[in-house]
Amino acid sequence: MVGAGLRGERRGKDLKLTTRVFAVTGIVVCGLVAGSFLFGGARSAIAWRSFRAVVIQSDDWGLAGFVPHADAWRGLDREKLASGSFPEVYWLSTLEDSAMVAALNTVLSGHSGRDGHPAVLQPNYVMSSLAHTGDRWVRYDLPDLPPLYRRPGLWNAVEEGIARGTWYPEFHATWHYDPEIRKRGALTAGIARKVTDRGIMLFPGSERAWELGSWRSRSDLGREVDHSLAVFRNLFGRDVHSVMAPDYHWDDRIEAMWGNRNLRVIQGKREQLNPAWGTGKFGRVRKYVMRQWTRLRYPGRIYLERNCRLEPVQAPDPDSVVRTCVEETRGAWAAGQPAIVESHRINFAHTDSAVVAVGLDALDRYLGEISGNSWESPVYLTDHELAQLYDRGTSWSVRDGVVVVRNATRSRKVVGIPAEALARAAGEGEFRSTGWGALVAVPAGSTIDLVPLQ
Ligand SMILES: [Zn+2]
Repeated sequence: MVGAGLRGERRGKDLKLTTRVFAVTGIVVCGLVAGSFLFGGARSAIAWRSFRAVVIQSDDWGLAGFVPHADAWRGLDREKLASGSFPEVYWLSTLEDSAMVAALNTVLSGHSGRDGHPAVLQPNYVMSSLAHTGDRWVRYDLPDLPPLYRRPGLWNAVEEGIARGTWYPEFHATWHYDPEIRKRGALTAGIARKVTDRGIMLFPGSERAWELGSWRSRSDLGREVDHSLAVFRNLFGRDVHSVMAPDYHWDDRIEAMWGNRNLRVIQGKREQLNPAWGTGKFGRVRKYVMRQWTRLRYPGRIYLERNCRLEPVQAPDPDSVVRTCVEETRGAWAAGQPAIVESHRINFAHTDSAVVAVGLDALDRYLGEISGNSWESPVYLTDHELAQLYDRGTSWSVRDGVVVVRNATRSRKVVGIPAEALARAAGEGEFRSTGWGALVAVPAGSTIDLVPLQ
């Protein structure tokens, strides 16, 4: 009896112990799940800390605005337009010309990564523009531009940058505004009509006329993006690999729409604005939770978060912008992340050449600072390469006329190169007959350049 009592007591203890073990395990598992939900970031099988990757993303290229030339506002009170508030420097922002693109490519090509490839900038392009001529609106798709925004030689300079491996276009927007709101507002009496006639892109309420606003219909947005992707392919001879929403405004519908078109590399998720989340502390918490939820729910999407700011022409002290961006870059590497630098077109294209000079100088100094000694130098990547490295540790990309094949893992890998990439590297389709492409064995941690056979 005594023994049975003891056994019973022990069973009771075991039960309590088991219950406690289950409870503790449950708490740990829940903690891990909650932890990975709340704090989980981008996946990685790569030693980013020693890889020292730098990606430069630049929005607004190809945008026919804000003004066609420096005199556009003469005699007009821009405040009466009620277009919204912009940083001062934006009021005289303009479409890039061939000299600006060439100057930027010269700065980039002056800095090479430790793999020998130059610094590369990813201009995120706006594909179409509207101009009011006579009594009707005319649409222009790149490379065509409205008459007031003619830029002789622009596309030659772009082609040259692509050929040098310093210019790697991606997709930003169709218009950068809701075209219906512009059409309604831009012809109203008074100053709105005057600025429209002068080719100024702003209109009443333009600051809030987001291209991807929640009021826009799925079918309109779908048609627009399909058209833009076709324009992009026609202009640059390849598909879009990465997308950045205009004005940082987009919602779940938009990501689904992009996903249906194989656009799964999304820039600037942390900056996303969605009025449906609300404002204040509650809005911020909701945004954070939604971001983590989206990461878990759509593991096929790759979000590239900008973690360095190089916006010197909007700041009173460009030197400190450069210093901070260098610190942010080193900080990203130390935290085991690639450095993803944001630097808008405004820094390199402007009606005032002094503004452009500040932007170019800041970029030059930034790249000089982070290059350091050759063994410390970074590797300059495109989003396309970065996304592939996140996916499988290897990548291919067509840069300066060769196929660059990378293996950032610790073991030898075989990388498949699609025939299309080989054809593009060869220029006139030397490899088209190979059909399926090629397989290349790349040693651990190496980069190989495939040079097409002549
Ligand atoms: Zn933009």
